[in-house]
Amino acid sequence: MDYEKLAELLFPHITRTPEDYEAMYPPRQLPEGAKVTRLGPSPTGFIHLGNLYGAFVDERLAHQSGGVFYLRIEDTDDKRFVEGAVEIIINSLRFFGINFDEGATMDGDTGSYGDYTQSRRGEIYQCFAKKLVREGKAYPCFLTEEEIAEIRCKQEEMKLTPGIYCQFAKCRSLTYEQVEENIKAGKPYVVRLKSDGNMSLPEDQIKRIHVQDAIRGTLDMPANDQDTVILKATGIPTYHFAHVVDDHLMRTTHVVRGAEWLPSLPIHIELFEKLGWEPPVYCHTAQLMKLDEEGNKRKLSKRKDPELSLDYYRNQGYHPAAVREYLMTILNSNFEEWRIANPDADIDEFEFTTEKMSTSGALFDLNKLNDISKDVLLKISASDLYDFLKGWAAEFRPEIIHMFDDRAYLERILDIGRKEAKPRKDHIYAQQMVDNISYFFDDMFKIEDSFPAEVEAAGDTAAILRKYLETYDHSDDQETWFAKIRTIAQELGYAAKPKDYKKNPDQYKGHVGHVSTVIRVALMGRQQSPDVWEIQQILGEKRTRERLERFI
Ligand code: GLU
Repeated sequence: MDYEKLAELLFPHITRTPEDYEAMYPPRQLPEGAKVTRLGPSPTGFIHLGNLYGAFVDERLAHQSGGVFYLRIEDTDDKRFVEGAVEIIINSLRFFGINFDEGATMDGDTGSYGDYTQSRRGEIYQCFAKKLVREGKAYPCFLTEEEIAEIRCKQEEMKLTPGIYCQFAKCRSLTYEQVEENIKAGKPYVVRLKSDGNMSLPEDQIKRIHVQDAIRGTLDMPANDQDTVILKATGIPTYHFAHVVDDHLMRTTHVVRGAEWLPSLPIHIELFEKLGWEPPVYCHTAQLMKLDEEGNKRKLSKRKDPELSLDYYRNQGYHPAAVREYLMTILNSNFEEWRIANPDADIDEFEFTTEKMSTSGALFDLNKLNDISKDVLLKISASDLYDFLKGWAAEFRPEIIHMFDDRAYLERILDIGRKEAKPRKDHIYAQQMVDNISYFFDDMFKIEDSFPAEVEAAGDTAAILRKYLETYDHSDDQETWFAKIRTIAQELGYAAKPKDYKKNPDQYKGHVGHVSTVIRVALMGRQQSPDVWEIQQILGEKRTRERLERFI
């Protein structure tokens, strides 16, 4: 077979040569050790935690080493393409602090290694497919779906690995004339890699590959034996071929991707080999897992787990710094230790390494995220929290935007209990924070809890509030204020100390705690809240008196 002629027959329109592309995309001029990474999402409109998890690894590897992190849109599967998806990807990642140095942007590409959208790189893939055909390493395959199904049946009967390889790869042996005839007859065809194959070899002679994965160490796997499709009948490349060509020409040094790609790694290694290129360092990240209700570890699922979607964190209003901090704890096993030693350091000062990544499945736990978020938010000033919350509300809860009318008022609210030696950790995420502090705003204030049963039984609610209001002096300090509540309690037959009531429950109607809970419910609508005195100071005298009067 004259492969040169075959290549011209299949790709007459491809005039550029591989050398042209090599010259167009020369090796990058970067400092020694600088890593080039990329995110290659498919524009399906669904961006999930796994994407963010991987993007963090990419971002850290590139930016810690003075390298480049770029965005490539992998849209070769047009069935899954969703309008606006690129915007969603860029915006979501930017929100979480992930910024690209080059690649696809909403206003076209930046960088000189583009085009960064696979659907616009057709000629490049075809040029390299042509090269493989010319060298006898790839061939056109005219097998129809029915023929492939038949082959599969036969393989099942014979208990052989399914697929197109060796003796099953019938089109390998077509002559030039047969190919030409098929093409003239308009028969559709794909281009397949002519794999070196293992199938005819006895078990102990099967060729194996050894690949150094940056997360998993040496991977020892059987070499590829499948005549994998590299160009589909439409001329569009498969993922396998597209990423190999792109990662080479874009001079990617590290490919970070999910463990679901591990089984096809031998195909990629063979493709690199056949193209005569050095493969990048692969970093196969662990699957994100969660513990289900029964305590079993399982993969996060799009259908069952809303927290898989990045939209979830934005809707709920998680602060991006909290999500970053949490992801880093599951990304690197030594991060928490580092954080304890460096409580105030910027997260980017932590030296992220692929070696400290889990290989067996990273456990994602919302409760842990919430705990971490409490600590992270504690370090964010009230003023910054105000800005963050306002941005969130404008997008997700426009009906409450009036909460932000009085900046000083809201900042005082957000700071309640945060300045103490053992600070309160009330804030977790925007949705929860807004609910938490809603009682500070008259239109959102509602009575959510009941008055204590002890007080209601004695019919003392109104009496307590009346006495409280009569003696209320907004300028009282905290001590004077509480002494007054004690007095009211005693006057009405409640113990001044809870322990007295516990000792002699028959002597009292209840204790001072029940009395102050009445005030709490009247003022905040809730039995639990931060310090009442402090809240009153923020509510102001007028609002405080109005709320008490409602019950008298
Ligand atoms: N387009 C692939 C995906 O969305 C990317 C895999 C890779 O990073 O190589 O899964």
